[in-house]
Amino acid sequence: MMSLMKETYYSQVEDLTVRYADIPYEAILKQDILRVGIRFSKDSLRVASGYKPKDYFIFSFDLVTMEELEQQDRHLLNAPEEVMLFGGEKDLKPTIINVRLNPSSPYQVIVNEGKLVLMADDRNLCEVRFHPIPSYYSSALKSGKKISEIAPVIEWGYLIYLTVYRLCQYWGKDEECQFCDINENYRQQKKAGREYTGVKDFGDILEALEHIYDMDSQSKAITVTGGSITGQLSGQKEVEFYLNYGREIKKRFKNRWLLKAGVEAFDLPELKELKEKGGYDIYHPNFEVWDPEIFKKICPGKERFIGRDLWINRILGASEVFGPESVIPNFVAGVEMSSPFGFKTIDEAMSSNREAFEFFMSKGIVPRFTTWCIEPLAHLKNQKQPRLEYYVALLRLWRDIFEKYQLPVPPGYGAPGVGKAVFSVSAFMDVIRE
Ligand code: SF4
Repeated sequence: MMSLMKETYYSQVEDLTVRYADIPYEAILKQDILRVGIRFSKDSLRVASGYKPKDYFIFSFDLVTMEELEQQDRHLLNAPEEVMLFGGEKDLKPTIINVRLNPSSPYQVIVNEGKLVLMADDRNLCEVRFHPIPSYYSSALKSGKKISEIAPVIEWGYLIYLTVYRLCQYWGKDEECQFCDINENYRQQKKAGREYTGVKDFGDILEALEHIYDMDSQSKAITVTGGSITGQLSGQKEVEFYLNYGREIKKRFKNRWLLKAGVEAFDLPELKELKEKGGYDIYHPNFEVWDPEIFKKICPGKERFIGRDLWINRILGASEVFGPESVIPNFVAGVEMSSPFGFKTIDEAMSSNREAFEFFMSKGIVPRFTTWCIEPLAHLKNQKQPRLEYYVALLRLWRDIFEKYQLPVPPGYGAPGVGKAVFSVSAFMDVIRE
């Protein structure tokens, strides 16, 4: 008998909540919004007040360029950094999501009866709150720079994100990771006339952190990161450049924050320096994509300057220096399904990810993943996102292997579990069970 149910965009989400009943609805919806982006009515941005706008803390994480926004949807330039979904017809537990602007997204935040709500297919799904602006954002720095530019905060106030070098020395199509728009985003931010600092000054950072130290108790971790440095920067080698920030922060603030480094895969002596001199607690040698052939195509710079096998060996070496639980390589989930080199089916992609998760987790290293955002200025533009089912299957795969090895909750991400997770660019923390 023909179904009388009207096929809508949102019906695929509902269908997956039935087929993957062990994955929280919140996590499924979060992955979909990260996958296809979100938009906001003019009213919703007018009515809300005291929220923190997008600081463009490293990449653009938008599905359109700033120029397109300027010309067609100017109001979206004031969109919030993150939204929290809650309540609604399914009584959603609080769910925090990074905002990726897409003026054609099926998901829209509007005002309904005086409240901010999330709509999909004309259906009111839940209420919405915007990431509140932290009190210390109004403090002035002596240099005249804004705290939001020097030390932006994300993950609902949990993580201070220091992109100390806003460029990457993997230059152009033959070197840049194909999904990454760090260099192009830098150019578009400058072109749009925004304050956007290529190399951040120690003085500015320490002064910004002083304000945060005095005024805030919510932030618990700091990430120091930036692009790769294949030569030298400010007369320093890559490890030296990044460890100096850690050392200054630790010297001044001791253990006020967990200190995380999102940098290259270093060799053993460099790793020891990063830990001992830089004072870093957690190391993120981001691996991006597991399959050997796809890795070469998607990360040509990493392949050429270090190589996949050595990258893996260095991750294993890092677990001796930092302890396996404090080494957290990131995968950009979805790029392994990009065309023309990626997998064609979800099964193939899962089998590759299974191999990756098994490889690391069996050794006590917990990889995490972020959700691929198809940025129009990255080399992998005009791609089709993997279906939502890919992300839901990946959440289940990650959680099952994580549970199989009875691993500890990854440090530096705040509380785990649905309704508590603050990590906003994928739902891996949302699916951890008590
Ligand atoms: S190493 Fe790759 S992902 Fe990281 S900033 Fe450079 S191009 Fe982007």
